Amino acid sequence: MTPFELAEPKTLKEAVALLDADDPTIRPIAGGTALMLMMKAGVFRPSKLVSLSAIKDMSSIETVNGELKVGATTPLAVLERSDVVRKHAGVIIKTLRTLSNIRVRNVATVGGALAHADPHMDLPPVLIALGARVVVQGKSGERAIPVADLFAGYFETVLVKDELISSLIVPAQNGRRAAYLKCTTRAVHDWPALGVAVSVAADGNAIKDASIVVSAATEKPGRLVGAEKAAQGTVDDAGWRRAGEAAAEEAELITDGQGSAAYKKELVRVYVARALRAALGAQ
Ligand SMILES: Cc1cc2nc3c(=O)[nH]c(=O)nc-3n(C[C@H](O)[C@H](O)[C@H](O)COP(=O)(O)OP(=O)(O)OC[C@H]3O[C@@H](n4cnc5c(N)ncnc54)[C@H](O)[C@@H]3O)c2cc1C
Repeated sequence: MTPFELAEPKTLKEAVALLDADDPTIRPIAGGTALMLMMKAGVFRPSKLVSLSAIKDMSSIETVNGELKVGATTPLAVLERSDVVRKHAGVIIKTLRTLSNIRVRNVATVGGALAHADPHMDLPPVLIALGARVVVQGKSGERAIPVADLFAGYFETVLVKDELISSLIVPAQNGRRAAYLKCTTRAVHDWPALGVAVSVAADGNAIKDASIVVSAATEKPGRLVGAEKAAQGTVDDAGWRRAGEAAAEEAELITDGQGSAAYKKELVRVYVARALRAALGAQ
């Protein structure tokens, strides 16, 4: 590892001031679980790391005007144990229990899990399905970005290099039901070949409105609006399978170490139907 400077600002404003929009070798570091691996592998050589761990008021979990607000430096394991999160959107807790292992979750943070933008990550598809947004702090002020618009491509976000995610906001779910399913083709805690997150507004089993998000098998997580239309008005397995078929046609799938695009197409077809069934709690 080449030598680098480590800055430990005490406030969000100081942290943003230490970043440079034009210098990609200066980077924020939160849990360091992704960044340290990139540095050890030599794919990232920083000149300066700006640690977010000494910043106060960036790791709280609260409900504000009916919305869930989570500070960006909250460790995933703290999120996983939060009753506030469980009441607001239990699917987040269930998802976290399947994310890597407790050693990683103790250290990795909510902000890092969003900013890293590896398409195989578990939280982004779920947060897109829940209609969540991030609050981002830059030198000229604050802006909100829907998680659905955060990812620009493979390991790429729309964040400017001197912007920091300060919090995550998950809106009230108003009785919507959600589920996340993933398929890992190697060890159970390995990166998934496919992630599918769904959120539905339904009357019994009759879907009035669905959000269907696919990740891992695609370059970035994203909604499948054609499949969402196909799911609307469905009441049973035959309808959910039709939505799965629409999703398999629509998703732009990639071949990688987790499997071929052709294989993932079959996974999408099956897993979208299963995720809708799981969200509705149907047998
Ligand atoms: C062995 C292993 C297995 C894993 N398996 C999975 C898995 O199956 N599913 C899954 O979802 N995740 C998995 N992860 C976790 C995940 O890939 C990331 O490592 C983790 O979420 C990053 O969080 P962090 O706080 O450690 O980020 P860091 O490593 O500190 O940073 C990651 C990136 O985010 C940026 N960043 C961090 N915080 C902010 C912020 N607030 N604002 C702007 N940019 C920021 C950094 O500059 C860096 O570019 C795994 C990790 C490991 C090490």
